[in-house]
Amino acid sequence: MSARVILITGANGGIGLAVARAFLAENSRHSLWLGVRQHRAEAEALAREHPDCCRCIALDVTSPKAWAEAVTEILRAGARLEVLVNNAGAHQDMLLGTMPREAWDQTMSTNLDSVFHGCQAVLPSMINQRWGRIINIASLSALLAPAGQTNYAAAKAGVVALTQSLAKEVARIGITVNALCPGYIDTESLAHWSAEERKAAQARIPMRRFGKPAEIAAAVRFLACEEAAYITGSILKIDGGVY
Ligand code: NDP
Repeated sequence: MSARVILITGANGGIGLAVARAFLAENSRHSLWLGVRQHRAEAEALAREHPDCCRCIALDVTSPKAWAEAVTEILRAGARLEVLVNNAGAHQDMLLGTMPREAWDQTMSTNLDSVFHGCQAVLPSMINQRWGRIINIASLSALLAPAGQTNYAAAKAGVVALTQSLAKEVARIGITVNALCPGYIDTESLAHWSAEERKAAQARIPMRRFGKPAEIAAAVRFLACEEAAYITGSILKIDGGVY
């Protein structure tokens, strides 16, 4: 793939870091911007390893102002922004009957509003250059809607619908918009699970194992490449065969 300017949100997390590494392995001339919020040690370590092409940037994805500032800084540095990976996300699982309003609002804001703000922030430059790739990390929960995840499942289903709708809006101008629906991926977000919970979850997966962050990253990298130009509005589940 030609050298591109790429922004990855939530880049200090398991999947975000794997996406960054996949792009670095593909082309050391890519210019990678690692969006970080509270935690940044891992992303900063990666940026130190690749000082010529990799930089951290403060980006709370729930803040339109933070998006505007980040995109302005990126464009000032390189005049282009070709790939956006909307990866940041978080869940607060609980039953709807006792869910505090904040758990609903925060989950919608982090997982869905964030994607709206991100797409709005990058679209003007992508439209100008008539080339862009937006890859949204949704979740298998968008399709399965498990109990205990009304907030997260609704937010990620919103990401799926936003992806399909926006893909149609920008299809004629060289911009593709796609979403991935990962199943259980072995990152920090599963770290609090007990051995029994892990075993029970794995028993429900036809492949009998969790996915690796690199297996999500490979799909992101492919969707960002030139050869994926005819794929848009697609929702790709990566889940070891669950759905
Ligand atoms: P991690 O918890 O490892 O990483 C999530 C990242 O999102 C963190 O870097 C976190 O930053 C960041 N983040 C959260 N809120 C914000 C915010 N408001 N602004 C900026 N960054 C924020 O999770 P994963 O790597 O596993 O998840 C990545 C994506 O994949 C998420 O969208 C998640 O919903 C999705 N996903 C994950 C699955 C899994 O099994 N792991 C399954 C399906 C989907 P900080 O630490 O600073 O808060």
